[in-house]
Amino acid sequence: MADVEHEVALEDTDRIHGRTALVRNVAAAVSLSNAIRSTLGPRGLDKMLVNDAGEATVTNDGVTVLETARVEHPTANLLIASSSSQDKSARDGTTTTVILMAEMLQNSLELVRSGVHPSLIINGYRIANEEALRELDSIARIATDKNMKRSVVRTSLQGKIDHLLSSHLTELALDAAEALVGEEGGNDLERLRIKRIQISGGKALDSELVPALVLAKTRIDRNTPRFSDGGNIAILDGALENQKLELEAQIEVNDLGVLKEFHERDNNHLQDMVDHLHDLKIDLLIVRDGIADDAVPMLSRAGITAYRRFEREDLERLSRLTGTNMIRKVGRITKEDIGSYSSRSEENIGSVNYTKIEGTLGGAMTMILRGSTPELRDEVGRSFDDALGVSYRLITENRILPGGGATQTHLARKLRHFSTTQSGREQMAIEAYAAALEIVPRTLAENAGHDPIDTLLTLSAAQSKNVEEGPWIGVNGNTGEVTNMYEEGIFDPIFVARHAITGATEAAISVLRIDDVLWAKQGPETPDWSNQIDDN
Ligand code: ADP
Ligand code: MG
Repeated sequence: MADVEHEVALEDTDRIHGRTALVRNVAAAVSLSNAIRSTLGPRGLDKMLVNDAGEATVTNDGVTVLETARVEHPTANLLIASSSSQDKSARDGTTTTVILMAEMLQNSLELVRSGVHPSLIINGYRIANEEALRELDSIARIATDKNMKRSVVRTSLQGKIDHLLSSHLTELALDAAEALVGEEGGNDLERLRIKRIQISGGKALDSELVPALVLAKTRIDRNTPRFSDGGNIAILDGALENQKLELEAQIEVNDLGVLKEFHERDNNHLQDMVDHLHDLKIDLLIVRDGIADDAVPMLSRAGITAYRRFEREDLERLSRLTGTNMIRKVGRITKEDIGSYSSRSEENIGSVNYTKIEGTLGGAMTMILRGSTPELRDEVGRSFDDALGVSYRLITENRILPGGGATQTHLARKLRHFSTTQSGREQMAIEAYAAALEIVPRTLAENAGHDPIDTLLTLSAAQSKNVEEGPWIGVNGNTGEVTNMYEEGIFDPIFVARHAITGATEAAISVLRIDDVLWAKQGPETPDWSNQIDDN
């Protein structure tokens, strides 16, 4: 009761002081954070999402929960966008980002209520963010061997899937990432080059990674062979068809002979193309668009097995695997453009035909996701994506940090110390920022069934007692005990932690700035914006 009265009283003062916008935005952030905080860490609970059609998804993935939720509040959408952006660039740490920013906002609302101007808070948060990033660099260690990398990937999968499956997916993800060492491409390379395909039946543990392109497709002519031990492959990034007659070039046909002549000319043209492929000794032809019906028997007679209608990404994977250039026109294909595949086969699984084309050059693979239900396969796919994203990024940035809230606790301690070197009001903002970081160990303790305040006190004491190992002491998310994360092998990659902290700070600042803009119109001394707030 007292709490409710307190809230009402606060709401009244907020209305008088015109802080309604900020209050509402913070409330939106907090409710979003509350929706997902119970999923954080190894003992995080799963969420069941049900859509309009009554289909359920069970997931432990914060960003999936948020992206599925139908949210209309602009601030909430902003926060969801930052967690998605965390997902895109770091592939992990999305829940952490959201709960961090909600906490940063909640703490800043308290400061605003005690009279601190939003722009001062923004300033303080920026300074704190920079200092925190510097500190991350100083406590990071290098994941030197495969075992450490394995621990990093396994930490990212904790709580999402069971132990055995997590080990299995970790190995596959590390292997897949290994295949991409030295490859050129953007941030999304691991998604582009590693195809995922769901195949029904089998157990999740049967999921496998194959050095091939696997896709649900059948050759255009069933009379051509089902298997092949390899040979020459050409990839046509276009169609094997005659050019259609343009509308303007319509011809009045009053003589059947003319029509026949046209048809023959078309067919001759198709035959020329097939002859060209035959001369190049092509065994396997992959065509992005269509293949003319008349060309089908010609190809078969020439001993060419053909497939049509491919996604561009699949063409790229195949091109990489087999060393084949993608060419737009048949006539332009030369000897240099031809690659070689090592085997091709078709298999019927659950009434779907799958084709598998193997190459030997690496650089692309297919992850076959198995599992008894589509929901399970989806979840296995999401987990593999996380694991692969982290494995792939570890190739270029192999510095790691302690997990289990150790990093954030250490940063909070450092920032509190650092804040004393700053001027008065910014100091308050930096302290608020430091306290916000502690939401990570607190939530991990809470989700493990421990008292968050007790755990935080024990943790801070343990960290400050130990100068060398201090920053590496955190909460074991399974037991709730305070232990050394290095010994436990609980590691977060530095890029995930860095992104989460910066992403949360930036989102919090943009929400604060909404308020700041309104405030600025009034001048900092006399905030009266009673008629500036849209009460909807
Ligand atoms: P996010 O979406 O933020 O990645 P997760 O549910 O994956 O959320 O939880 C990540 C957090 O859980 C990280 O802070 C990580 O250090 C921590 N964590 C993972 N496994 C453990 C563990 N065994 N003990 C303690 N903390 C862990
Ligand atoms: Mg995670």
